[in-house]
Parts: sequence; structure tokens; C-alpha cells
Amino acid sequence: MGRDEYERRMMRAGRAAAEAGLAGLIVTPGPDLVWLCGYRPTAVTERLTALVIEPGRAPRLLVPVLERPDAERAAGAGALTVAGWTDGADPYVELGKWLAPQGRYGVSDGMWALHLLGLQRSVPGGGYAALTEVLPMLRAVKGAYEVERLAAAGAAADAAYQDVLGVRFAGRRERDVAGDLARLLTEHGHSQVDFTVVGSGPNGANPHHEAGERVIQDGDRVVLDFGGLKDGYGSDISRTVHVGEPGAEERTVHEVVREAQQAAFEAVRPGIACQDVDRVARRVIKSAGYGEYFIHRTGHGIGVTTHEPPYLVEGEHLPLVPGMCFSIEPGIYLPERFGVRIEDIVVCTDSGGRRLNVTGRELAVVA
Ligand code: ZN
Ligand code: ZN
Ligand code: ZN
Repeated sequence: MGRDEYERRMMRAGRAAAEAGLAGLIVTPGPDLVWLCGYRPTAVTERLTALVIEPGRAPRLLVPVLERPDAERAAGAGALTVAGWTDGADPYVELGKWLAPQGRYGVSDGMWALHLLGLQRSVPGGGYAALTEVLPMLRAVKGAYEVERLAAAGAAADAAYQDVLGVRFAGRRERDVAGDLARLLTEHGHSQVDFTVVGSGPNGANPHHEAGERVIQDGDRVVLDFGGLKDGYGSDISRTVHVGEPGAEERTVHEVVREAQQAAFEAVRPGIACQDVDRVARRVIKSAGYGEYFIHRTGHGIGVTTHEPPYLVEGEHLPLVPGMCFSIEPGIYLPERFGVRIEDIVVCTDSGGRRLNVTGRELAVVA
């Protein structure tokens, strides 16, 4: 992706800041910086790096002078001015010279407190707000290039799932299977593995269980939820498998979750409120009698991170827009017994949803 696309993103961010009543944005290393200008410092340290975007002005990037050559090689560097600060200088005073003394700025959610406190000291009249709160949808609508990157990450996660169906589950620890998932994601082109959930038996009833020492038994149901980054874009898929032949109730619960996931997918279209997609999934689970066991939101956005706006949750009134990419991941969690979750990444298109995970959602039997 070239300079022009980064320039467009930074200009759009400047306009969005103005519309939100902000003087501008201050972006420190992390996903927003990568997305806006393609710069990912090799090491993030206490030395300040900050991109300042103000409407109607060329964006400026302040970096430690020793990192300036690296910053100037970033893909979007041609669309901004890079300035260096030298050890011994006060970088907050340097940055403060660029800022409106009474301006209110949106700052990266992950900006270190060290830096924000430094800014508050050097620009005491300024105001600061978290970027996700003031511009939640800044990165939410993906362009065609981004959708294809997400589709490629999804295809790699699908392939990893197909492969893991062939590994041994019974008699091995959850963390051994988690290791298989990490290896498979890497083999299928991921540069970073963010999570490998293997929730076997009763552990599957805890949506936040990662993977532990429990030895998987014949007859267990196992929730798998894994993903990471491939070529800078995220994957996130959940499937629930069964070791040996499942019982009747296990089949029923799995089918309810699959229907809920399908119904929510079919509800995706431009203009529908995020919370209404959540409600569609919840209605299916509730009418099957499991409403109290669906204990989390239906989905989250995905892009250069694996969790970001938009959130498909009650209370989120924002409408879906073509290009938004998000998970649809209803689940049922029966305490002390087992859990089921099925998750695909979906993109909203003009004509409805398109799944970026296409591997089978039926109950798979593993050994
Ligand atoms: Zn997931
Ligand atoms: Zn997810
Ligand atoms: Zn999650």
C-alpha cells in the first residue's frame, strides 16, 4: 500500500477530528500509527514518538532523532513532515510547540501515561480524550485492500482449523493443542499469534479460559478460538469440536448456536444498528431456552487489531456501513458442564454479509 492511501487516511482523520470538535489527533506507536502512516517503530520505549494530525495542515511526526532514518522509510512518510528530538531536550516541550495551547486533542488509547502526563505538563491549557471514545469508527470502515487482507487472514485461520481436526485431542493437555494451533497459524502465514483458546469439558463453559494443564478426555466438547495477524491484518475464528460421538443435548446446544450465528449473519445489511444484529442472535438462543447462558456480546470489529469497534452489543446504535468487518460469535456456556461458541469474521457489503471464514460450522468429531 502506497503513500497516497496513507495520505487519504490522514486527511480523513483530520476531517473527522474537526467534525468531532477536536483541534487534532496525537497518535503514539500502536495500531493507529501503523494504520495512519505505516510506521511501526522497531522498539517502543520511553522516548516519545508522536504523530500530530490537525485539519487543514500537513501531518507531522516527532521521533527520537536516532530513529528518524527508520521513520522516514515508513510507507506513509512521504505524506508527512518528520522532525527529530535529541536526547537531553524535553520532547513534550518540542511537541507542545506544535499544538494549539487551548486545543482539545484525541490521543491514542494506548498512549503511555508517561507521555500524556508530559503533555499535560507542557501544554497545561490543552484537553485530551481517548481516540476510541471520540472517533470510534475511524478505522471501522475497511477499503477493498483491507477486506482482502482480512479475507486472506481468515482463509489461513480456516486452513489451520481444518488441519487441527487431524491432531490427537484425547489424552493430551489443552496447552498441547494450543501449541498445535499456534504452529498451524504460523505455517499458514501468520506473523503473530494473539490467542489460542482450548476450553475442554467444563473449561469450555468459561469464555475467557485460554488453555491449561487439563488433559482432554474422550467424550469432551472442546471450544477452540484462535487468531492473530497475517500481513498486518487480523484473524479470529471459533469452532467447537467433540472428542468421539456427541450426546443428544450436546448436539442440540450446538445446533442452537449454529442457528443463532446464521440468523445474525443473515441480518447483516447496511443501515441495521449494531445492537439489532446482537438481538437477532440472542432471540434464537433465548427462544431455545438458553438465554441466560449467552453471557457476552455477539461480536467485535477486526482490522489491524483483533478487537476494535464496531461492537455488536446492546446499546450500540451505530448502523452498519459497507466495509465494516466484525465477528459474529454467539455462544452458550453451561456452568461446570461445557460451552459452545461459533465465530466467523463477516464483512458488511451493499447486498448483505460476506463471510471471511468459510470452513464448516457443523459439529466436527475429533479423536
Ligand atoms: Zn475469537
Ligand atoms: Zn472474536
Ligand atoms: Zn474475544
